[in-house]
Amino acid sequence: MSGKKSIGFVVLAVLLLPALTGCIGASNAVNDLLENPGIPGGLTLACLDGGTYTKLIVEVDYEAGYKPETSSTNMLVERLEQVCDKPNGVELKFEETSFNHEGSWSAQDVRDKAWDTKSQEPRDGSVLTWQFIFPSNTYSDDNVLGVAVDASTVAIFGDSVDDAAGFFNRPSAEEVENSVLVHEAGHLLGLVNLVYTSPANHEDSENKGHSNNEDSVMYWAIESRSVGTFISGDLPTEFDQDDLDDLTGLENGSIPSTNQLWRP
Ligand SMILES: [Zn+2]
Repeated sequence: MSGKKSIGFVVLAVLLLPALTGCIGASNAVNDLLENPGIPGGLTLACLDGGTYTKLIVEVDYEAGYKPETSSTNMLVERLEQVCDKPNGVELKFEETSFNHEGSWSAQDVRDKAWDTKSQEPRDGSVLTWQFIFPSNTYSDDNVLGVAVDASTVAIFGDSVDDAAGFFNRPSAEEVENSVLVHEAGHLLGLVNLVYTSPANHEDSENKGHSNNEDSVMYWAIESRSVGTFISGDLPTEFDQDDLDDLTGLENGSIPSTNQLWRP
């Protein structure tokens, strides 16, 4: 019955930076805090809460030939609208760009090149901006389809997404891309257990930061090139009830959060 194959490798692409250490000079405290890139999940409360950051912009920076499918970015907006309180909406902002990068990408490459191309600070007035970059080439581990590298930055590797399509195009590259975008957005929302500890036992024991439920978009295999061999049938594109309950708990304060760059 099971279409799963044994798991020969483990991909964990949530890259947690060590917490910032050292002191922040009093005179520069505000600037330093704004420039702190944070960790994935560091702007979770800024997204969930609608009081200060009333609009979310998703900046989509892509190299020629790597623009994501409209179905992927529209689904991303839909899922973010579902969980983030943004009275002035969630908007996409597309820009074709060149990252001027040769060869494969490390997490640090993603941080450096993405920040070079950000059109505005992640927090600017009442606007929160998250950035998804779509570069040419692959991650250093080419099994990785996407990575969340800090509180506002994601990279999706289109060539690897294309390679992840299954036999007879089931799932198709477009379906894989749909799921990977929502999955990485889930990491920016702190899922699973990146900036909190869930009261529910839904974090995969062998793949930290991920769900153990294959019906959740946060299932660990979603960002792996072998996703088509781990999931037969439709790929999940939605947060499951445990994911949603975690976000509700973070938003109402019943689940304590850590590493937040901003709090209500
Ligand atoms: Zn992941």
